[in-house]
Amino acid sequence: MTRFSPLNFFSTVSTQNHAAALQHPIFSYVAKTAAQTGVQAYVVGGFVRDYLLNRSGKPDIDFVVVGNGIAFAEAVATHLPTRPKVQFFKNFGTAMLQFAETDIEFVGARRESYARDSRKPIVESGTLQDDQLRRDFTINALAISLNEADFGALVDPFDGIADLSSKIIRTPTDPDITFSDDPLRMLRAIRFAAQLQFQIDSSCFDSIKRNAHRIEIISGERIIGELNKILETEKPSVGLSLLYDAKLLELILPELTALNQVEEIEGQTHKNNFYHTLEVVDNISRNTNDVWLRWAALLHDIGKAPTKKFQKKQGWTFHGHEYVGSKMVKKIFMRLNMPLNQKMKFVQKMVLMSSRPIVLAQDIVTDSAVRRLIFEAGEDVESLMTLCEADITTKNKIKFKKYHQNFELVRQKIVEVEERDQVRNFQPPVTGEFIMETFGIGPSREIGIIKEYIKEAILEGKIANDFEQAKELLFKKAEELGLKQHTNE
Ligand code: ATP
Ligand code: MG
Repeated sequence: MTRFSPLNFFSTVSTQNHAAALQHPIFSYVAKTAAQTGVQAYVVGGFVRDYLLNRSGKPDIDFVVVGNGIAFAEAVATHLPTRPKVQFFKNFGTAMLQFAETDIEFVGARRESYARDSRKPIVESGTLQDDQLRRDFTINALAISLNEADFGALVDPFDGIADLSSKIIRTPTDPDITFSDDPLRMLRAIRFAAQLQFQIDSSCFDSIKRNAHRIEIISGERIIGELNKILETEKPSVGLSLLYDAKLLELILPELTALNQVEEIEGQTHKNNFYHTLEVVDNISRNTNDVWLRWAALLHDIGKAPTKKFQKKQGWTFHGHEYVGSKMVKKIFMRLNMPLNQKMKFVQKMVLMSSRPIVLAQDIVTDSAVRRLIFEAGEDVESLMTLCEADITTKNKIKFKKYHQNFELVRQKIVEVEERDQVRNFQPPVTGEFIMETFGIGPSREIGIIKEYIKEAILEGKIANDFEQAKELLFKKAEELGLKQHTNE
């Protein structure tokens, strides 16, 4: 594969042949179909962009043909070694198939016009250039020919190559039209800027600000698709700050932008929790690729805006913000049509418990506090530790070091305590059935009391998580409750 350095490819690439990009087995089948049917075919969009940027990954491949995209896809499918199923959307003239573990899409070259309240265009067939013009950014409008006459030639009517080389996101046509037609493109601009470390052209960015309110016609799923991609970048604060500056973030996640304020009463201020949050998200992204844990970092302080109070004695307080925040998580997930499943529960749990380990790290770490932490966090205790460590953003070097050292201590204790007491997936050492049999009773309040008593004793370290020790305690508590051992006489 040809390698470009950003410095020299501008001058050399435009005359270069790009046949070297066309290694994937699909290209020879598409070229063959183009030759046989006389329909012109081009690979276009993300594949070409990523090839020129030398970005690795597993790209999907998009083709544009000057003619009927669905008929062309069917023709390609007949040539493939094992004939794949072709899925198509007649209204859009697009067809999809899978080949060599790659998602392949075909579209007939088209011109688009939009109604104001929808991002679904009215489509007419058009030329290759019409099709390139309706694409979102110049760097996504590059095409490489698969036709016999000029196989491997780059077709770049909007100077996408120059924008690739100077790392600029720019629309091929008037940005006000591009963004108003399909407001999702505003999020895509920011997502590409964040992913590729590009700048958004300033008139394009101004246009995003002007059109930000149009995001209201975009579905939650689409918004989240882009937001997740921003959260998955190496330094999510870059994309999040752009969303903020573009006035999009306040429309998508007003709960988060509500944190961007600092109040002062009687000379006392509190930290700006919005910028703190951005730092926490960047911190956690160095230690996890789990997008849901990154979400937890993003939302961990949202309860602070509604719970903020100034109290004479304590100054600024945010009592119960973790609980309030975890309730807000559900509302956000519902509003944005996010999955209301285990992932949401995980984010809620992380937000709810987000202050727990930090309290430990600020204090002397006792075994029983660690045991309780493991008991309550269960399988997610490591994720919680990762979140809380990312939450340390103090600029005081001495405190920073102390907190991290204490976290190390907590981590060691977690391993020790868990090895000894196994409370992570706590199963009560004496079961309800055992209690019922022993005392000849049916389901009753006493059983709950006894089980809770034994669990507390284990968490406090009074007894080990062990059947014999638990049984001893069981008899003691049962006696207190007036239960008599059952005999079969
Ligand atoms: P990636 O696959 O990394 O997300 P991509 O550029 O390939 O990036 P896709 O969503 O796969 O993005 O879309 C393929 C191509 O289709 C884009 O490169 C672009 O030319 C065009 N495209 C996609 N979405 C839009 C849109 N909302 N408006 C205009 N053109 C679009
Ligand atoms: Mg793609």
